Amino acid sequence: MARPIGRMLGGFVCSSCYGDIKRHARACPICGEHRILSELGDAGNAVCATCAGAPERYGCTRCGSERFYVGALCGACLLSDSLDAAFGQRESTPFATALHDHFNGRQDPRNARAWLLGDGFSSVLSDMAFGRLPVDHATVDSIPGGPRRQFVRELLIECDVLPSIDHQLHNLELWITEFCAKLPANHALIVHEYATWTILRRLRRSAEYEDTRKTQGRAARHTLRGIVKFLEWMDDNDVSLRTLPQPALETFLSSVPHESWMPAFIVWARRAHGTRASAQPARRTPPSLRISELQRLAVYRAIINDDRPPGHRLACALLVVFGISINRISQLRPSTFEVTNDQVRVTLSPGKSTPLPGPLATLFRLHVLNLPADNEWLFPGRRFNRHITPDAIGTWMKRYGIPSTHLRVAALYQLAGEMSSKLLSETTGLSASTAGQYVSASGSGWNEIPVLYDPDWASDLVDDAVGEMTSAVESEEHPLSFIEDE
Ligand SMILES: [Zn+2]
Ligand SMILES: [Zn+2]
Ligand SMILES: [Zn+2]
Repeated sequence: MARPIGRMLGGFVCSSCYGDIKRHARACPICGEHRILSELGDAGNAVCATCAGAPERYGCTRCGSERFYVGALCGACLLSDSLDAAFGQRESTPFATALHDHFNGRQDPRNARAWLLGDGFSSVLSDMAFGRLPVDHATVDSIPGGPRRQFVRELLIECDVLPSIDHQLHNLELWITEFCAKLPANHALIVHEYATWTILRRLRRSAEYEDTRKTQGRAARHTLRGIVKFLEWMDDNDVSLRTLPQPALETFLSSVPHESWMPAFIVWARRAHGTRASAQPARRTPPSLRISELQRLAVYRAIINDDRPPGHRLACALLVVFGISINRISQLRPSTFEVTNDQVRVTLSPGKSTPLPGPLATLFRLHVLNLPADNEWLFPGRRFNRHITPDAIGTWMKRYGIPSTHLRVAALYQLAGEMSSKLLSETTGLSASTAGQYVSASGSGWNEIPVLYDPDWASDLVDDAVGEMTSAVESEEHPLSFIEDE
C-alpha cells in the first residue's frame, strides 16, 4: 500500500488519492457546488468543507474557486494571467479577445496553460498580439518547425484571426522556396520555373474547386527532386536541356522507368528551353479489379440497410457507387449537392451534375437535417468547422469486410464500362487521363466514340449504372454471404 500522506476524509489518505481529490473538484453531494471533496460527511461520504462545517483549506486566494486546483491560485486564474502575458488583456485587441476566448473555452484551463508555457508555444504569437509583427500567414511562415508552425496556423484560423487557407498548397509553396534556395543557381532557376508555371499553376487551378491533397503535395515534391537528379545527371554527362540528344535522354529514361513525371517535364522543356529530344509517356494502367460486381452490390446493400447514422452510410455509399476517393469524400461540402423536389444531384466536376440513386438521395436528405448550422462540411470533424479525417471514413468502411480500394476500383470499372472517358471524368471527378485509363482497361471501346456532353444522356447512363444497384437493394437475390466469401 502506498504511504499515507495527506490528512483528508477524517484521517490519512495515500498520496495518489490525496492528489486526485485536490486536482479534481467534484459536485458535492450536499450543496451541489463543484468543490474539493476533502471532508467526511455525516453519511460517511465525501463532502465539501462548507457542508462539513470544516475550515476551508483549498480556495483560490483571488477568486475563491476550488476548481482546477493548482496552489494558491486556481487553474482559471493562472490561465488568465498567462493569457494576459502572452496576448495582452482580453479587451485590449480583437486578437487578444479571440485567443482568450479560445483558451478559456477549453475543458481544463491547466492544459491550456501548460501549452502556453511549453515548447509548443511560439513567441511569434505574442509578437503578433502586441503588434510587433503583422498578423498574416506570412508571419506564421517564419515560425521554425513544421508541426508547430502548422499548429499555430490552425489555431489562428480556428480563432478567425487569419483567413482559412489551403494547407497542403501553402506548405508546398514554402517547401519549394526552401528547396530551391539549397540548389546551385542554374538548377534552382529551372526547378523554380517549372514548379511555378506548371506544378503550382495546375494545383492552384484545382484548389479553386477542392483543397489540395497530401498525395498531390507529395507527388509534386517527388517530381521536383527527380528533376534535380535529372539536371545533375545532365551536368555529369556534359549536356544541357538545349543540347540533350535523344539517345542520352533514352538512356536516362531507362534508368528511371517508373518516373511518370518525365514526359510532362520534357514537353515543357521543349517549349521553354528548346529541348529537341522527346519522351513518350509510359502507358499506365489502373489497378486491377479484385472483387466481383456481386460483392460490390452486396456491400452497397449492406450499407443502405445498415443501422449506422445516415452520414456514415452516405460517405460509404458514395465510395461504393461513384468510386470517389475517401480523401475527396472527407472534403465534400453540402453545396456540392443540389436538392430539388424529386432529386438530389452531386457535382463532382465543375458544372456537371449527376443524380444520386434513390437510397443515397434519402441518406443525404436525412444526413443534412442533422448538420450543425455554422459548419461548411458535409462530414464535419470533431474540431470546430473542420472536415472529418479520411481515416475516420476508412474506419466506417471496415465493417463491410472488403478493402475500400477494391470497392472503389470496382465502382470505377463498372462506370467505365458504361461511358466515355470524358463522361466518366465528369461523373466521378477523376482526372481525364485516369478516366481514360479506366475506360481503356474496361475494354468497352467507348473511348473511340467522340461524344459531346449531353446532360440528359449522361444522367440516363448513370441511372443505368446505379439503377442496378438500387434494384439489388430492393431484391433479395444477392445474399450478404458474398461479403464473408472474401
Ligand atoms: Zn489511496
Ligand atoms: Zn457542499
Ligand atoms: Zn481563481
